[in-house]
Amino acid sequence: MKRLQVILVAALVLAPGALPALTLTEGSAWPTTTIPVCWEDTQSRFLQERRLARKAIRASWEQESALVFTGWRKCQPRSRGIRIRIGSQHPHTKARGKAVDGVRDGMVLPALWALAALSVNVKTPVHEMGHALGFGHEFARPDDAVPEQCRVIQRSGIRYAEHDLPLTGFDRDSIMVGCAGTAQRDLSLGLPLLSAADIYGLVSVYGSAPHNILDTGEDGDLFGASLALGDLDGDGGDDLAIGAPGKDGNRGAAYLFRGHRFQGFRPWRKLQPEGVIAGGTEWGRSVAIAGAGDDEKGRVLLGAADGSTAVAVISLKPEARVDWLPATATPDRELPETVRAIDADLDGDGLPDRVTGLASGIIGGRTAGLVQVERGMANGVHSAWYRFGQAY
Ligand SMILES: [Zn+2]
Repeated sequence: MKRLQVILVAALVLAPGALPALTLTEGSAWPTTTIPVCWEDTQSRFLQERRLARKAIRASWEQESALVFTGWRKCQPRSRGIRIRIGSQHPHTKARGKAVDGVRDGMVLPALWALAALSVNVKTPVHEMGHALGFGHEFARPDDAVPEQCRVIQRSGIRYAEHDLPLTGFDRDSIMVGCAGTAQRDLSLGLPLLSAADIYGLVSVYGSAPHNILDTGEDGDLFGASLALGDLDGDGGDDLAIGAPGKDGNRGAAYLFRGHRFQGFRPWRKLQPEGVIAGGTEWGRSVAIAGAGDDEKGRVLLGAADGSTAVAVISLKPEARVDWLPATATPDRELPETVRAIDADLDGDGLPDRVTGLASGIIGGRTAGLVQVERGMANGVHSAWYRFGQAY
């Protein structure tokens, strides 16, 4: 399985058109997912900074991938891994990816007094850790989609001589943007810091977190054979259901993704009807989302090959759980229509964005189910935002 993943990443690198966002400096990816981290200085005066940085990195790169950062103690003279110093006003990382391994003061982060906003102090360690993992600046990418304000920064004398692999279109919400005026994200503590495209780029290089429902690794799932958008959790934003009727030998399943306006769809739950309706096969041939009602529970409908429909009731409080309605509860339950492309304003900019299901897409020469999310531009064109599927 591990070997397969490596082959997939290699195949992805050779076919830039199929890559997720984030730019990776060639040859900089760490060969392992366990990376030691240490502090150059463990004086008590920067205790708060160290706690904040560790928390932010854990809630981002570590939570969303197979990466595990170990140690977090005082560096010894020969300590390997990422060596962090706190104190400079100018955060920077001395090398990209594995080239920073064992480098003294390899990452320098600002003390809290140096930057007023708490949000900046949370974002900075995550951004710099992105460099330490091999990722480059979104605004240094060699494509024309770079917004004007980022271009000005590039011209203003700051050198970003990067030889990063050109991937998909510019992701204005990437943690690797670092370009004034583009960051629209809510940076308050506790909210995710990585954009959806960051996560899919990260996972394509370093692998999935064990809990990631996307790690299906199965050919013929037909992930993306059907789609549905709807507000499942009542937060006012659209969530996404994706059918995979080929899952587990045509038993079928659907996958739920919670929507976040600036960070895209995030993997959430796998739905597979169990014993609710006898004989159903290829669940997820069609899906529908019925929004949260008075009971504050959203409903997801899954259509099967024989025309039966299963209804999942999603409770969010006090904790997320899935219950299946018995077949007798709503005998006239309607079979959802199969939908493979949806236009909707996902990022709140007033322009229609597009979600497309490609049950048999091609990633790195291998047939895989995938879903593509594109942003609508003012000129009516759609630009790639991110894609996800079983190969990630
Ligand atoms: Zn940077």
